Amino acid sequence: MRRLLILGSTGSIGTQALEVVSASKGAFEVVGLSAGSSWEPLLEQAKQHGVPAVALADADAAASAGEAWGGRVLAGEQGVMELIADSGADMVVNAVVGAAGLGPTIVALTEGIDVALANKESLVIGGELVTALAEATSSRLIPVDSEHSALYQLIASEPMPGTITRLVLTASGGPFRGRTDLSGVTPEQALAHPTWEMGGRITIDSATLMNKGFEMIEAHHLFDVPYERIEVVVHPQSIVHSLIDLNDGASLAHLGHPDMRVPISYALHLPERADVDVPRLDLAELGALEFEAPDTETFSCLRLAREAGEVGGTAPCVLNAADEVAVGAFLEGRIPFTGIAEVIDRCLDEVPTGSVGHFEQLFETDERAREHARNLVEGAVA
Ligand code: NDP
Repeated sequence: MRRLLILGSTGSIGTQALEVVSASKGAFEVVGLSAGSSWEPLLEQAKQHGVPAVALADADAAASAGEAWGGRVLAGEQGVMELIADSGADMVVNAVVGAAGLGPTIVALTEGIDVALANKESLVIGGELVTALAEATSSRLIPVDSEHSALYQLIASEPMPGTITRLVLTASGGPFRGRTDLSGVTPEQALAHPTWEMGGRITIDSATLMNKGFEMIEAHHLFDVPYERIEVVVHPQSIVHSLIDLNDGASLAHLGHPDMRVPISYALHLPERADVDVPRLDLAELGALEFEAPDTETFSCLRLAREAGEVGGTAPCVLNAADEVAVGAFLEGRIPFTGIAEVIDRCLDEVPTGSVGHFEQLFETDERAREHARNLVEGAVA
């Protein structure tokens, strides 16, 4: 039985990971769960799955949980780290949203625990150091993102070096595909994703195409492929999850209905596969699948992400921090949708960046970039 620790279990990926666990009848033991502040749903999950220990990043929420429950409750960021270090888990599912997921990834890998990684920010911010750490401790980073899960499986089918010439990530294009004027876009419109149901931040990132930019950086680090050999193609149906091009002119693709339980199940069960209750693919019923080039003029976040990725070092850390602040400000109605890219662009220009040698540099850069982004937002609303 594989011992799982699920971080961010109250979110979109976390709850689906628990659905996969429930459907897997005895394949997993859940040894711990964590959330930010949603202590009541977290305790519900703990009771339902017989989990002995939980952690809440928010100390007040942890205090409330401690009063309401007899199990072990750990508090604060430090508590999340302790939960990982003490868990004896075989695998940590990191489904925390944002930069807050980096610390847990570092602790899990340091402990030599395999990580099923949904938290793409761990690789966007700290890709060079995170992959080096995984290698040093012989722990595996198994992608949960559907595109990267697809690439992981496709690449595994081509073990000979030099045969893979290009990775192609598909993007749904989000709710504003085809539009060239994004002024006046409301949070409600941006939160209405056409094909995927996800947490708030990633849904907005999908509407700006920043999510695909993050995924490019994630793919670069996970698969050690240079940016010039990573392409993005818009595919509104989200049926083809990714492709690889081979040196003999063939391309291999991974297809399926868009449902995150499929890549989650793959990551949790690897090297086995388990049944997942999703509709089977019926190509005749689907009819046409469409593909088009992304519009990086209107959706400049995709271009900004590629540029930051190519610069490397601490630049992607600035990219992520600025995006987190700008997306939060947009959702609060403080800046327009088009202001998201503007804040990020200015942060990338104005926050000093450099090469990266240790994790502390990343935490410092994250803080500096956030502060700069918050000042820009203040300036925009003043
Ligand atoms: P959600 O917002 O739905 O859930 C986020 C989870 O993280 C919640 O459990 C939340 O707890 C917890 N959390 C928030 N802040 C903190 C913190 N400071 N410390 C510890 N835990 C915290 O996000 P998603 O599930 O959509 O996304 C999670 C990650 O997976 C992201 O990195 C995203 O990019 C990635 N991803 C998501 C996909 C999707 O389909 N949703 C697809 C591919 C990747 P609380 O409930 O208390 O706020």
